[in-house]
Amino acid sequence: MRDLAFNHPAWVEINLAQFKENLRLVKAFLQPGTKICLPVKANAYGHGLINIARAACEEGIDYLGVACLQEGVLLRQANIKIPILVFGAIHLEQIPDFIKYDLEFTIASLYKARMVAEACQEFNKRVRVHLEIDTGMQRTGVRTETAPSVLEFMRNAGCFDLCGVYSHLATADDPEHPFSSKQTEDFLQFINAYGLAEDPNIICHLANSAGVTILPSAHLDMVRPGGLVFGCLPFERNKMPESLRSIKACMEIKAQVAYYKNVPAGTGISYSHTYLTTQKSNILTVPVGYGDGLRRCLSNKGTVLHNGKRYPIIGNICMDQFMIDCGADPGYVGDIVTIIGKQQNEEISIEEMSKICNTHPYEILCGFNDRLPRLYKYTLE
Ligand SMILES: *Cc1c(COP(=O)(O)O)cnc(C)c1O
Repeated sequence: MRDLAFNHPAWVEINLAQFKENLRLVKAFLQPGTKICLPVKANAYGHGLINIARAACEEGIDYLGVACLQEGVLLRQANIKIPILVFGAIHLEQIPDFIKYDLEFTIASLYKARMVAEACQEFNKRVRVHLEIDTGMQRTGVRTETAPSVLEFMRNAGCFDLCGVYSHLATADDPEHPFSSKQTEDFLQFINAYGLAEDPNIICHLANSAGVTILPSAHLDMVRPGGLVFGCLPFERNKMPESLRSIKACMEIKAQVAYYKNVPAGTGISYSHTYLTTQKSNILTVPVGYGDGLRRCLSNKGTVLHNGKRYPIIGNICMDQFMIDCGADPGYVGDIVTIIGKQQNEEISIEEMSKICNTHPYEILCGFNDRLPRLYKYTLE
């Protein structure tokens, strides 16, 4: 059933067929010709950088987006050939490697543009860049007022191939928020005023998952949906456009029971004995802990699936293990426990877990680290 390094008894299952299906659903939702840049930062939202990138390439994606140089280099070292855009601010020491690994990167200030131009002169190279405009995220990017001078500088410097111009939406996850429309309008006004919108060599892009879903005017030449393609819907399923409602999560977390014991009522479980059994109970030990990325705040709050039923995570989650209370139900070493995902008619979603942890679903996704091997599946459920 499994084929994992060292037969590790806990793993992340990634359904690449579902991932590809999600990608196709997003593509079908867009106007024909709209390019897709798939953000694969943070280990492809925990799904595995290289395998996800390869699957996306098989689906004919246009661009991959990463946060930083090292993620881009890993993709190139895995022989991924399609354009890769590094979103994050660059550091001057990295410029030679952006060139060496053929990575497109972001110019977000006149200062950095100058430094890049100097480096290009020194190495006698050209660079492929996207200009980032800050329309209100206040993270990185040139203000629309100062952007013309950066454009001007890049045109005159003679070493920049301007491949794209982009901005990032700050509030699109709130469909009522008027700011997304304002950002879109400001961005459109900018790209129109400076002849960027109609230039066929310049890709204008703005929309993240939420923008793709509710702001058709922000789709432009290319969209950058991350979470949506990984099955994290930006809005409630019934509020999604019809054709995107069948997008599904493609990550499950599973483990095999490592130990079981029967204890009497009133037995304290795990560190600090924060849980006392209320009856004679069958207690199972599952070999996953916060050292794998399972959030400790799920202690005494989360549930897992076993034999198609929900059972509570009891006591404090340890670094490498946690316990569940099966009450009078049986459970044995080797049984499969689903921490995220489906068993029969029950499902524990990323969204359910993130609500208990009072965080964003993305944080749960990218929290599971490399101690949990990734197991890839290639057929739809
Ligand atoms: C992460 C990121 C995205 C994707 O955001 P989602 O909410 O996952 O769609 C798009 N653009 C940039 C610049 C990003 O950093």
